[in-house]
Amino acid sequence: MRVVTLGTSSHVPTATRDTTSLLVRPAAGSPILVESPGAVVRKLRAQGVDPRDLERLILTHDHTDHIYGFPHLIHALWQHHGRIDVHAPPKTVETAVRLLEVLGLGGEDYPELAFHGVEPDGEPRVLFEHAGITVRCVRSEHPRTTFALRFDEPASGASLVHSSDTRPCAAITELARGADTLIHDCAVPHRFFDLVGRYHSTAREAGEVATASGVKRLVLIHLHAVLGFDDDELRADARASFGGEVVVPSDGQELIFER
Ligand SMILES: [Zn+2]
Ligand SMILES: [Zn+2]
Repeated sequence: MRVVTLGTSSHVPTATRDTTSLLVRPAAGSPILVESPGAVVRKLRAQGVDPRDLERLILTHDHTDHIYGFPHLIHALWQHHGRIDVHAPPKTVETAVRLLEVLGLGGEDYPELAFHGVEPDGEPRVLFEHAGITVRCVRSEHPRTTFALRFDEPASGASLVHSSDTRPCAAITELARGADTLIHDCAVPHRFFDLVGRYHSTAREAGEVATASGVKRLVLIHLHAVLGFDDDELRADARASFGGEVVVPSDGQELIFER
């Protein structure tokens, strides 16, 4: 399994960071796309992925920065007759369907879409198995119902947790126990806590979750980088509470899992 951070910013992109999305690439088989923000088709192609090969899409919640490119993804698949399974909380499924309706997308000229609405809670629930990867979800701590995700690939031993948008929470700490890598919401260094502390996490808090769960590597994402802090400050802040590897990824960066 390999993972690419297609986008790494908060809801406000910068010149070098676009809104958060991930591409999870199994050892064999089609990739799993997490979120459908803007320019996602171009980002897939930049990774050598033909969007027509997409079979699985996860939308963690329906805040605009995570879903606004969904209609465009479908529009870009005009006259493609494959099938995409879309996994999301029920309210997010509703939003996704309404976006397509408003823009008149769907029908025989477009791929078949199979929506799977799942209500996440504090206990891990299997969303699906795909290409040797088992995907589980719990509910994160965020104003809208949001998936936090775990990806396990037993054949390689690779395991990854993605917190999605969240405050630090026990369900995610437990979900990440025994995983190799934790990708965690990190809007800001801790000195900006007052700005985002109701909805998101700081680098220091992400480090605390990583330490409590025992992961080896912490990847900081959903960065509100428009504030102008630098990557070194984020790394130092996370290292104050976590002794493992800290990664501040760029857009399009691939995360390799050691065997
Ligand atoms: Zn959100
Ligand atoms: Zn967001």
